[in-house]
Amino acid sequence: MTYKSGRHFLQIPGPSNVPDRILRAMDRPTIDHRGPEFAELGKSVLSGIKQIFKTDNPVVIYPASGTGAWEAALVNTLCSGDRVLMYETGQFATLWHGMTKKLGLEAEFIAGDWRHGVDAGAIGRRLAEDSAHEIKAVCVVHHETSTGVTSDIASVRRAIDAAGHPALLLVDTISGLGSVDFRTDEWGVDVAITCSQKGLMMPPGLSFNAISPKALEASRRATLPRSYWGWDEMLQHNANGYFPYSPATNLLYGLKEAIAMLLEEGLDNVFARHARFSEATRRAVRAWGLEVLSLVPSEHSNVLTTVLVPEGHSADGLRQVILDNFDMSLGTGLNKLQDRAFRIGHLGDFNDLSLLGTLAGVEMGLAIAGVPHSKGGVQAAIDYLAETAPQTQSRDKAA
Ligand SMILES: *Cc1c(COP(=O)(O)O)cnc(C)c1O
Repeated sequence: MTYKSGRHFLQIPGPSNVPDRILRAMDRPTIDHRGPEFAELGKSVLSGIKQIFKTDNPVVIYPASGTGAWEAALVNTLCSGDRVLMYETGQFATLWHGMTKKLGLEAEFIAGDWRHGVDAGAIGRRLAEDSAHEIKAVCVVHHETSTGVTSDIASVRRAIDAAGHPALLLVDTISGLGSVDFRTDEWGVDVAITCSQKGLMMPPGLSFNAISPKALEASRRATLPRSYWGWDEMLQHNANGYFPYSPATNLLYGLKEAIAMLLEEGLDNVFARHARFSEATRRAVRAWGLEVLSLVPSEHSNVLTTVLVPEGHSADGLRQVILDNFDMSLGTGLNKLQDRAFRIGHLGDFNDLSLLGTLAGVEMGLAIAGVPHSKGGVQAAIDYLAETAPQTQSRDKAA
């Protein structure tokens, strides 16, 4: 391997780039997790993260990847053989569905085409048929990272309520939280699930469950085996800022900084920044003459853009050319999108010039790999970013 100068561009949709402030915050001695200093850290992150989830209810933090938080949400609320209703938005919904089978749940999976979000109407119709209330939980992915499609969680809640159905609403917002608006309490989400390495801008290793009173109540009756994931012991210890087992102390230092950074920028500004980058990216893709996978404008992801490559060309070949020449990682097409599509991550600690560097790498890669396209994608993004530069807007407002 020869030395590569400059920073690697990590433009996959998670793990996202870890800002220097978070790296510095984690670069500290690991402290006694039963001592008084730890309790301060524990209390600070356990309360701070609630603001990011927009909840007044408890949030538990596991030393685990997001997959662990999926499992925690299921085993704490359900019993063996329980029926759950899921929706096939893409690969992550498919993996979570696969997990329910391994845990002995009876999952119904409403088929989707991987280009649309959750159809709340289909969920409502299925629940309305279930007059015996056999379905115990509706499990959906808020932001489907394999496709770049966002689902309207408030509409899923309305569909459940309109059907008069008592099912719990479990939502994976692993790649949504901290990048696009998510309102745990307002949307009546019973368990909201996330992890550290996407919108929270951290390395992998922490995962989260935000728990509604109704979910907590269900956990008292749930009988699926659980030990490591048990909310009860976790919440007992969390009350004093501690954990039932060794927490990922240094990642918690990073989390404290991540929460401070998100609140310093302001969540609404964070969301607006992501929305602006996604629009600029789609303008580039359209100028290249390529197709965005997401079909419905209101569902377009603000976190990533999945781009289809023309028939007969290899998306993975293109990604390799870009990695070799420009030291940039782009997301691969997952499952049925393998080699058909690539994903541009534009989330986390990211600014206008990092986006333009990213898009320039893609445009040069398209040329080198011989993928048919028109020039001018980067220029289209430049035009949009310049027109919408935040400082121009504030100057106009002041005038
Ligand atoms: C990344 C991701 C996961 C999986 O998280 P891991 O940390 O890899 O276990 C699950 N769901 C969504 C939507 C994701 O983006």
